[in-house]
Amino acid sequence: MLSAAYLVLGWVSGQLGIPPGYASAVWPPAGIAVAAAILWGPAAWPGIALGSGLLNSWLSLHATPGEPTLAVVAGALVGLGAAAQAGVAARMVARRLGTGNPLDRGQDVVLLLLLAGPVASLLNSTWSVAVLTLLGRLQPGQQLGNWLTWWVGDSIGVMLFTPMLLAWMAYPRHLWRRRWREVAGPLLLAAIAVVGTFVASSQQAELARRATFEAQANAAAGVIERELDRSIAFTESTARLFSAMTTVPESDFSEFVDPWLRVNPTIRALVWAPVVRSSTPPATASGATEAGRLSFYERDSGGHKLGVQPRALYVPVYYSEPQPLNAGAIGFDVASDPELADTLARARDSGEPSLSPEVTFNLTQTHERGVLVVAPVYTTTVTPPSVAERRAELRGYVLCAVRLGDLAASALQRSGRDDIALGVFDTTEGPISTVWTANTPRSADGMYTSTPVTLAGRRWVIDAWTTTPSSEAGAGWLLLAAGLGFSGLIAAFVLDAGARATRIELLVALRTAALAQSNEALRRSNLDLKRFAHVASHDMREPLRTIASFAELLTLEQAHRLDLTGRDHLNRILAAARRMQALVNNLLDLARVDSRAVPLAPVPLNSSVDAALENLHASIVECGARIEVGRLPVALADRVQMVQVFQNLLANGLEYRRPDVPPVLRVGARHTPTGWEIAVQDNGAGIERRHRERIFEMFERLQRDGRPPGRGVGLATCRSIVERHGGRIWVEAAPSGGSVFKFTLPGAHSPLPESDLEYAVP
Ligand code: ADP
Repeated sequence: MLSAAYLVLGWVSGQLGIPPGYASAVWPPAGIAVAAAILWGPAAWPGIALGSGLLNSWLSLHATPGEPTLAVVAGALVGLGAAAQAGVAARMVARRLGTGNPLDRGQDVVLLLLLAGPVASLLNSTWSVAVLTLLGRLQPGQQLGNWLTWWVGDSIGVMLFTPMLLAWMAYPRHLWRRRWREVAGPLLLAAIAVVGTFVASSQQAELARRATFEAQANAAAGVIERELDRSIAFTESTARLFSAMTTVPESDFSEFVDPWLRVNPTIRALVWAPVVRSSTPPATASGATEAGRLSFYERDSGGHKLGVQPRALYVPVYYSEPQPLNAGAIGFDVASDPELADTLARARDSGEPSLSPEVTFNLTQTHERGVLVVAPVYTTTVTPPSVAERRAELRGYVLCAVRLGDLAASALQRSGRDDIALGVFDTTEGPISTVWTANTPRSADGMYTSTPVTLAGRRWVIDAWTTTPSSEAGAGWLLLAAGLGFSGLIAAFVLDAGARATRIELLVALRTAALAQSNEALRRSNLDLKRFAHVASHDMREPLRTIASFAELLTLEQAHRLDLTGRDHLNRILAAARRMQALVNNLLDLARVDSRAVPLAPVPLNSSVDAALENLHASIVECGARIEVGRLPVALADRVQMVQVFQNLLANGLEYRRPDVPPVLRVGARHTPTGWEIAVQDNGAGIERRHRERIFEMFERLQRDGRPPGRGVGLATCRSIVERHGGRIWVEAAPSGGSVFKFTLPGAHSPLPESDLEYAVP
């Protein structure tokens, strides 16, 4: 599986390789290998070696096709290097940081990244470049570039991908897995950014290189075109010299052409070759007698001199400059050269200078190759108008031999580049023919451009191409270095944040657990307390009843035997016992809120209020209270407890009335988004704001002048009940003075008819 992961990732990254090499800008497999070596130790080594070996064999084969055995050997050796590098990285990490997951400790992450990344990556980059060089898979001069890319690529791969994998496997796994996306996301983004920037800048550099190349190639083509143009123009001028004069002495000829030849070293020869018709005896040919040196010759295909074949027309070289280089050329019959026949005919018939294809300079003795510019000279000063007349009036030719190869070389020399080659092709007549071409082949991944030019009526294209693969520019390395730093920073930051977040999450989990524990303890102690209250009050009822009944019995049967003080004492005992009984009953009520609770069922709250009023009947009559009850909903509630709540609230309303003001109590309900809100309003003394919270606490009561203090259990019981029903209870000041106690019951049943949705009681 490891090998497969290595292969797949490697193939993808191989696409990012920098030509002309093997190494890649970001090499994730190196990161995977290190993570695997850290996690599984030596067990991971064979997988790494296999994956890397296969991948590199394939890459090596791909880079240099042929020699498959050598490619596999190279791949295998590189694979061993990859496994060794991962092993060394893991060992170093283990030695410096101890075993276990290093991600848990923020500052260790940086050390991990440095050791496993740039430090360990020195190993395989050095080893592999050495191996590839020894096996001849890397050309000399490519080492440094490949080594650097290799090293940076592995380093970035480790810094971005090792943490990603370690985070996936880190402990506590559930925390890290959840965090994985936070770690992997930025790292992947960083990888994409590095690769993207690199690719973009490589493309930019490639474009720039192409632009430079094209400019230089165009310049070279321009030089060739200009030089040839000038040669054509000069050949034409020389031809005009002959048209204008019946005889041109050799000294005039050399005087005319030598200055030109001196400044144009690529011109091999400038020649005057007159037409000699066979009817004219050679000895009487123009100028021949003065020179007395004309002996015609031809050359065979091997370049050997031969005597001329009998022909109707000869075109022997008569003058040829520069001398003495071209002395041997005198007498060569240009018309005998089959390579030139076409060009001569074209020049003669068109009356214009004509360019030959690449020919051997038979008219010189050197047999160099190049192109000839051929300008016709007629016996008339102006070019005869028809082809027939031109043929009849032809007097000779001026020929100019241009060493195109030298011209091309000098054109390229000006661009200062030795990796560009040129070729000149003629496209005038359908099929393309080579005029001249450098014999350096085009490099497979080199650049190429083609410039069309028109010269002496010929359509040429001048092709330029690079002969060596493009070498990476310096900016690429700078960029890689920046990528390395950037990846390291991102990785360190993300992992440190990850480690921190994990620690915090662990801490939160611990605290939450502790809190849950103490909550549970609190709940249990509350329960214990309620149980205790219940048991205590329950067990007190019996002795209390005994005290009360015996005190009553004493009052009934023995009171007459006691004096006034004794009777008073007896009454106090009786009163105290009754108060005590009430308190115990209240406490029992409170304790039973949970223990005696029955499942909630729909309860019409109006019936609960009625039952409470029934229980309070005596008090109501006694104080002349007025009670108004609106329409209340049917609530999901505990029937007995609802009576308790209303009874407590109504009893307090009667109890804490204002002196001399007959109590008015109102009960109503209001629908809220979450359920029902029930209100019990009085016109009593009211409660100061600062006491409104604490009266709901157990045994909290307010001291009031001239009144026996309450027991402080009623409201606590109400709160306990309301909260058991999922509601809330509080008190507000009533608008008309007095207090209004409100409590909520969530999701109460049976909504009232529309008209009753407000408080039934104002
Ligand atoms: P108790 O009435 O037995 O003292 P409660 O828990 O019912 O205990 O009430 C606590 C305190 O709240 C009372 O002592 C009283 O001072 C105050 N209180 C309760 N209801 C009212 C009310 N309707 N108007 C004014 N004060 C009230």
